Amino acid sequence: DTPLLEIKDLRVQFGSEKSPFTAVDGLDLTIEQGDVVGIVGESGSGKSVTSLALMGLIDYPGRVNATRMAFNGRDLLKMKDKERRGLLGKDIAMIFQDPMTSLNPCYTVAFQLMETLKLHQGGSSKELRAKALALLKQVDIPDPERRMDAYPHQLSGGMSQRVMVAIAIACNPRLLIADEPTTALDVTVQAQMLDLLLQLQRERGMALMLITHDLSVVAQTAQRVVVMYAGQVLETGTVPEIFNAPRHPYTQALLAALPEHNLGRSRLQTIPGVVPGLHDRPAGCLLSPRCAYAQDKCREVRPALQGPANAQVRCHFPLDQEGRPGNGWQPMNFS
Ligand code: SF4
Ligand code: MG
Repeated sequence: DTPLLEIKDLRVQFGSEKSPFTAVDGLDLTIEQGDVVGIVGESGSGKSVTSLALMGLIDYPGRVNATRMAFNGRDLLKMKDKERRGLLGKDIAMIFQDPMTSLNPCYTVAFQLMETLKLHQGGSSKELRAKALALLKQVDIPDPERRMDAYPHQLSGGMSQRVMVAIAIACNPRLLIADEPTTALDVTVQAQMLDLLLQLQRERGMALMLITHDLSVVAQTAQRVVVMYAGQVLETGTVPEIFNAPRHPYTQALLAALPEHNLGRSRLQTIPGVVPGLHDRPAGCLLSPRCAYAQDKCREVRPALQGPANAQVRCHFPLDQEGRPGNGWQPMNFS
């Protein structure tokens, strides 16, 4: 079976060829039709850059390389720009954190939906308007007839986000990329938005790639998780595996920082320190300045990603089932 999305060894670099800054460092990702995959990481982890690279939206001087990047068997790297843009907004759609940056304040909801439909499907104004209204109903906008003629500033944040989703699904995408879709919303609205995304995903059998800094969002929605840090994948696994027995110290720390049953309140920044910037990556393991288990080896040797595709871990001392570092890890001798 051809996977819906296949990415092998994706590398995104900025800066000069001589001294490049690596924003994404060798990412592998396969998404099957109907999959829900969470990409988790703090700001600066490379998760948004990954989706932009996939969409062909990394501009010069950014450089995108991969051994393979294919959508439904079609090679995205060899595709002409025009053909690739044809995929965007149609087979692959994207929604962002802030609806106000994507909705045009000058046009009504109906106009913006109808423009999208016209671009990809065509039809008479009457048909387009009927389709637009049907989409607003699908995203559970209350009083949809009235909202059709509203301008974005007349809608609440949650409702604007629903309009964004309606625009994104207008052309029946097979993959919906949602980048922090709930971050700008308050907690109760966040849960409703996730429910809506999952409901649409199931009804339409589309794949959902959910990019978030919030592991609790992933816990509620995804089947699989990819944990990213400073441009690298640190761990991959199924949601139950990752949540019951994380093997990477970073994932463990993220989970420990999660207030249970407290959707949306978790912030990965509760782990002391920040993701190293593009310019100051440490020599060994990128997490070593922040890792509770760091040893001399960690500061000297950068660990490789190990294990089968859906259960990888990048650590010299992966955690055991009890959550203790293994592989001959020794507690530090402070004497
Ligand atoms: Fe921590 Fe060392 Fe593992 Fe890096 S390699 S995550 S510093 S234990
Ligand atoms: Mg981002």
